[in-house]
Amino acid sequence: MDLSHAPVIQLSNVRLSYPSPEGDIDVLNGIDLSVAPGEIAAVTGPSGSGKSSLIAIIGGLEPLSGGAAHVLGTDLAASDERSRTLLRRRDIGIVFQAYHLVPSLTARQNAALPLTLAGQTDAEARAAEMLERVGLGHRLTHRPSALSGGEQQRVAVARAFVAGPRLVLADEPTGNLDRRTGAVVIETMFELARSSGTALLLVTHDPELAARCDRTLVIEDGRVVS
Ligand code: ADP
Ligand code: MG
Repeated sequence: MDLSHAPVIQLSNVRLSYPSPEGDIDVLNGIDLSVAPGEIAAVTGPSGSGKSSLIAIIGGLEPLSGGAAHVLGTDLAASDERSRTLLRRRDIGIVFQAYHLVPSLTARQNAALPLTLAGQTDAEARAAEMLERVGLGHRLTHRPSALSGGEQQRVAVARAFVAGPRLVLADEPTGNLDRRTGAVVIETMFELARSSGTALLLVTHDPELAARCDRTLVIEDGRVVS
């Protein structure tokens, strides 16, 4: 089978519930979703509808409660936490709303993390190249506290793409940024994804941004409604 054309994400009837004293809270109620290699898809929907939970399942951060999920050929329902972590490190980049950089590390060290964890000796040189590409070549040795929000998010974008993942997940990456700064971050992500053929799943509240993606999924109450 030629895996290069297989979907990077294939979800079928995916469910997620959290236990609570009053009974299980159902967060995802049967999600079907397929994303092709290189596709850029937007996910929108009201607050609390399950968008971040969906990203957590696909990124292997949460185990699913039911259904079937294959991400980059890995069967998530059959994977333990360790193998989900390995999949994420090897092949998935994630950008969060709140940047999630390591405060004690420089921009270059933060951007290099996926390569450093993989034992690549040229990690920092490749991170420096990626920071150049996102327009931060002059900020290599700054720590996150010395960077603006938009700069921190560009470091997070560099980190997400530095290891050449086949899939990048972004959960409201411009949610903490003003419009113009957010636009720079998004342009950077689109350019990196298109030039490397990386699939991108982008959670956003911004209809203009969603319209620029290949496709938009709307989620309500843990279901894809369109
Ligand atoms: P969105 O990103 O669309 O705003 P989330 O995926 O963050 O939505 O949350 C969906 C629902 O799941 C919300 O009702 C939220 O309260 C609930 N939820 C999220 N995480 C947990 C958790 N760890 N335990 C219990 N409920 C949770
Ligand atoms: Mg969310």
